[in-house]
Amino acid sequence: MSDTLLSVQGLTRHFDVSKPWLNRVIERDDRQYLTASDDVSFDIRKGETFALVGESGSGKSTIAKMIVGLLEPSAGEIRFDGKAMDFASGAAMRTLRRRFQMIFQDPFASLNPRWRVGDIIAEPIRTFGLMRGEEIGREVGRLLEVVGLSAADAAKFPHEFSGGQRQRIAIARALSSRPEFIVCDEPTSALDVSVQAQILNLMRDLQDEFGLTYLLISHDLSVVRHMSNRIGVLYLGRLVEVADAKRLFTDPQHPYTRMLLDAVPDLALSGRRRTPVTGEVPNPINPPPGCAFHPRCPHVMPECRQIQPHSIPTATGTAACHLLGQGAPRAQQG
Ligand code: SF4
Repeated sequence: MSDTLLSVQGLTRHFDVSKPWLNRVIERDDRQYLTASDDVSFDIRKGETFALVGESGSGKSTIAKMIVGLLEPSAGEIRFDGKAMDFASGAAMRTLRRRFQMIFQDPFASLNPRWRVGDIIAEPIRTFGLMRGEEIGREVGRLLEVVGLSAADAAKFPHEFSGGQRQRIAIARALSSRPEFIVCDEPTSALDVSVQAQILNLMRDLQDEFGLTYLLISHDLSVVRHMSNRIGVLYLGRLVEVADAKRLFTDPQHPYTRMLLDAVPDLALSGRRRTPVTGEVPNPINPPPGCAFHPRCPHVMPECRQIQPHSIPTATGTAACHLLGQGAPRAQQG
């Protein structure tokens, strides 16, 4: 039996960003598109945490939204537990939706301020018809205790809680439909540093207790290192490296991964001269030809400007860089 819970193949999403000019109809050839996700493929195994990392605009959140059905892909396929997600079929998506949930970055924005906490957590239970009557109230109390709050908190409103407590409520709500898979989109980036670790530890405990599988979206490599089993690195909508977490942090293969790690002083690899972060992410509406990273890459070669590299196997995953066929860029000794 396959241990893959979620499989993403060739996932692509274009956004039409053509600027309307008066009431002129923009011809098809004149339209401008932004490709937020470009032919992205990866698998997530049951019970693991797979992280997607990359700078702002790399396509992380677009991919997360497509996976939970908030955005329809322009191309590609998402399979959950072996079944293709059919966005056109409301009934099929409803069945699948119970099995996956999402935790958002800002717990205040994701909780209805006019609803009591008990109703917020009970909503998925009612929507999916999982329980009835007094059973629902007992389940809400149990979930609040599971996330470190009290059953009595069900009667309060979201504004009566701190940011960390609100994220605990959001997690209790996510758990209420008994999901197997949770997409965590920057789950701690809106929280004080002092409570970030508590929420991350809670998420890990819940993963063990309920056998959950996580897709973690984050720009914070310290969070990713603390939480993940495997990591995918995105650059301008393309997956440039996938590797086991340990391997990625000790032996990154792609020059962009090295640059990302070197930008975090605590994570810089000891004994290696750091590669300075240079340049800006190019305009995604008009990305550079060839390898999109070539304007910033310290190892750029003539072919990088013309030919887009394909992913090739590495020790624990894949990476897309022309250097890999010739031996990975060697760490410079400082
Ligand atoms: Fe750098 Fe070329 Fe590799 Fe792109 S393909 S990361 S430009 S060496």
